[in-house]
Amino acid sequence: MRCYCINHYNEPLVEMKMALPKPKAEEVLIKVQAAGVCHSDLHIWEGGYDLGGGEFLSLKARGATLPHTLGHETAGVVVSMGPNATGVEVGESYLVYPWIGCGNCSTCISGNENLCTSGRPLGVLEPGGYAEYMLVPKPKYLLALNGLDPAIAAPFACSGLTTYSALKKLGNDIATHFTVIVGAGGLGLMCVSILRAMGGKGAIVVDIDKKKRDAALAAGAHAAIDGNADNVAELLIQAAEGAPRSVIDFVGSPETTKLGFNILVKGGKLVVVGLYGGSVSLPIALIPVRGVSIIGNLVGNLEELTELMELVHSGKVPFIPITKQALSEANDVLTRLKEGRVIGRTILIPE
Ligand SMILES: [Zn+2]
Ligand SMILES: [Zn+2]
Repeated sequence: MRCYCINHYNEPLVEMKMALPKPKAEEVLIKVQAAGVCHSDLHIWEGGYDLGGGEFLSLKARGATLPHTLGHETAGVVVSMGPNATGVEVGESYLVYPWIGCGNCSTCISGNENLCTSGRPLGVLEPGGYAEYMLVPKPKYLLALNGLDPAIAAPFACSGLTTYSALKKLGNDIATHFTVIVGAGGLGLMCVSILRAMGGKGAIVVDIDKKKRDAALAAGAHAAIDGNADNVAELLIQAAEGAPRSVIDFVGSPETTKLGFNILVKGGKLVVVGLYGGSVSLPIALIPVRGVSIIGNLVGNLEELTELMELVHSGKVPFIPITKQALSEANDVLTRLKEGRVIGRTILIPE
């Protein structure tokens, strides 16, 4: 089978021919129908994450080996399975849950495989979907598409799941109060839509880019505030009809995290999703005095993806715009993404 692999970090992907994997035990082999290109693929391509302040989170140190096949937003059709695999059918299409843990630690047993310290996420440490075929360790990681276009479904495994999980962390406050969303890029826009689908009261979006603010309003945001305004905190509190209970920071820069922390009402929650990086200094005493929570969010768990796909199948979640491109153009797509020339989501389709 053909796959597009990182052979050396920061160098163009290489088309490689690999033996078709034979599924053993509970493994399932899928023929890839759609592979979403995610911004974090760029970091994997670079070999890790820049944490700011000269620190680098290396994937090699986490056990990454080369060559590596990218792709963690994958949908495909089951072609064969190991003798112990049950619950999926050959010829049916599924979305792959890629954030797979060791399965044995207390974190995995509690259902949060995405937070396992020895996890082997597909497309990050294990081979992903930039290929004609892909091996999935167990049938439980496959969610039936029930007729949904695989290219539409693919991004829900990462960007959709991340925003859904961030919103879940806010509990019922999203229904009773406005939610402040910092950053109206791809994730922020998806968050506006999913918040509506979950019955949220509404989104107050803040972004420095007018085009993105307009896109947020078009997606149904209640208000969009200019992040460059001198009195941005005041404007946000006004728009939210009082200091907000909930802020989701999709940027994760020192400025946005500080803004989110500062505007929270007593007892409020700040969920940090963005990986922009850097560091921030906060008055520690204000954390207990104001009783606020600062919560990190890394993708989401299998139960959350299952819930999200139920919401998608119910027709409540509007689809985000996608562009389909041939899998053989993977290199070109990644390069353009790196240069900031990709609008919306690009989905690679094997020829
Ligand atoms: Zn991703
Ligand atoms: Zn584990």
